[in-house]
Amino acid sequence: MQKADVIAENLRRFRVDNWSEGYFSINEAGEVVVRCQGQSIPLTNVIEAAHNLGLSTPFIIRFPFLIGEQIKKFYRAFQHAKEEFNYKGEHKAVFPIKVNQNRHFIERLLHYGKDFSYGLEAGSKAELFAVLISDIPENALITCNGFKDREFLDLAVIGKQLGKDICVIIESVEELVGLIDIYRRAETIPAIGFRIKLSSRGSGKWEKSSGEGAKFGLSSTEILLAIDLLKEHDLLDRVNLLHFHIGSQITNVRTMKRAIREAGVIFAEVAKLGLNIKYLNIGGGIGVDYSGSKSSSLASAEYSIEEFANDVVFTMEDMCNKHGLERPGIVTESGRVIAAYHAIVVTDLVEIMGAEYDLSHYQQTQNEVKPLLELKYALEYMNEKNYIEYYHDALEFKEDLRTMFTLGLCSLVDKSNGDILFQEIVEKTIAIALRKGENFEKDPFLRKFLAEKYLCNFSVFNAIPDSWAIRQLFPIMPLKHLDRPCDNFGVITDITCDSDGVVNAYQFPDTAENEYLPLHDEMADYPIGIFLTGAYQEVLANKHNLLGQMNEISVDFNEEGKLDVVSSEQGDTVKDVLNGMRYDDAFINNQSKRFFQSMDNPKLFRRFRSYLNSYTYMIKDGHD
Ligand SMILES: *Cc1c(COP(=O)(O)O)cnc(C)c1O
Repeated sequence: MQKADVIAENLRRFRVDNWSEGYFSINEAGEVVVRCQGQSIPLTNVIEAAHNLGLSTPFIIRFPFLIGEQIKKFYRAFQHAKEEFNYKGEHKAVFPIKVNQNRHFIERLLHYGKDFSYGLEAGSKAELFAVLISDIPENALITCNGFKDREFLDLAVIGKQLGKDICVIIESVEELVGLIDIYRRAETIPAIGFRIKLSSRGSGKWEKSSGEGAKFGLSSTEILLAIDLLKEHDLLDRVNLLHFHIGSQITNVRTMKRAIREAGVIFAEVAKLGLNIKYLNIGGGIGVDYSGSKSSSLASAEYSIEEFANDVVFTMEDMCNKHGLERPGIVTESGRVIAAYHAIVVTDLVEIMGAEYDLSHYQQTQNEVKPLLELKYALEYMNEKNYIEYYHDALEFKEDLRTMFTLGLCSLVDKSNGDILFQEIVEKTIAIALRKGENFEKDPFLRKFLAEKYLCNFSVFNAIPDSWAIRQLFPIMPLKHLDRPCDNFGVITDITCDSDGVVNAYQFPDTAENEYLPLHDEMADYPIGIFLTGAYQEVLANKHNLLGQMNEISVDFNEEGKLDVVSSEQGDTVKDVLNGMRYDDAFINNQSKRFFQSMDNPKLFRRFRSYLNSYTYMIKDGHD
């Protein structure tokens, strides 16, 4: 095959064009590149820059300009839909910072969102504090969701006093009582929104975020109680927003249309009761097509941002017409689709585990046990006619040998010889099956056997916690050598001491390849990228095995307008993660002094202490 054909084949195999929104591709040298506005940069260059900065794998590469690209795409989609359906209300977006609270991320988001008056959403006290010290563009909205104690409400009131356009979205009547209490002392009150409980449910994994039994929102009775309470304090005019959020990663837009229609009915009813609603806040939930399959499976989304915006705006126009309403502003709180693309995790191969041994390791002995002789026979006389039968026999002989070994009836050498013979038989089976054009992929055992464990320097629990927690898919692929065919199948395994530290599903749902990743049979210098990790993963990351926060490096347009590495940040050291588990410095110092005191070996003490500054992951060439 020509190089170009191999590259095209790898593009297809890893479904790059399906999940990457055009941001990632493979260049003619077989390296993965990130591209934007006619420029591109190979990720191997970034990795090299990271190494030169003393940062080893695993690390996060951020592409802040992709936040900007997604914001533009998102905003334009709504702009276009408004023109198309002649919708007179405005569109205002807020970014829910729970999706990624990292300061550098938020700063870049606000920078790119400036022209669009992009605001922020907070769901807790700490999040609201972060929001209040961020440079929010003028005219941008701040919304407060989630369950709020008096302190949270007071922070919102302070936000209002600072002159921010802030809306407290009430989850319960109790919250409203609290807010009114503070108002009586502070004599000022932010705008108020009602989160409404819809009977329409979302679709997909997070559908429980809505529906009658949902954890969030006011029921019809509670809406009436809240209105009475507000009337009593002459605050009815402070209510300006209705909100619902039907869940993340909506797989199908129809559920959103249904929710808007249902919210429209409530809108019309509360208008009759004297509320002057300015905004309908439809929450977030736009799905990211992690698997690139444009399907209704959980890791995918059937629609594009453009289709979503069109459906939303059309339904709003239609719903307002039906109820004779003035067109409210549409507030969106999409997070995942804005943030996911901007970060990837780069890990690299430590070793291919269980690399099997060949006949050169066979140790001939005097009296070989029967199952061994049988395996030898099977290997020697296997052919195109009998290979399936012989392969099944071999499975039995291997089992016999294992039983004998546990009963002490054969030696470790016999056992090793049996494993080697069996390995050879499997390889011969696969070779014959391939030659005959047969699909051995159907045989789960052979498939498993084909897949080798690629031990990679990272932690699933830290890099892609959703892969472990909810089996979320993330596209994964090697970052170089893609001008060569991937002849191996691999399972990505991390360095935690946890059998769950394995990636079990890849970007090929509903196919036999789903459990295994096509990979090269390559050992040295084999970086692997895990894509679309910019949403939720960083804050859900945990420090299992005390493998901590990863190194980071940022690629952006530099002062000359060229894509380049612009900044970097060190990840956690051993000391950092110990501090996080309450081994404070004083404790570390006292205890280590105690143990080394009697030894009088300052050199050893220094060597020991130096590891406090080590990166928590594996270092390739040992300690320097
Ligand atoms: C989490 C959340 C969002 C963001 O949802 P995405 O699926 O990331 O777009 C928006 N609004 C509320 C209230 C949320 O809880």
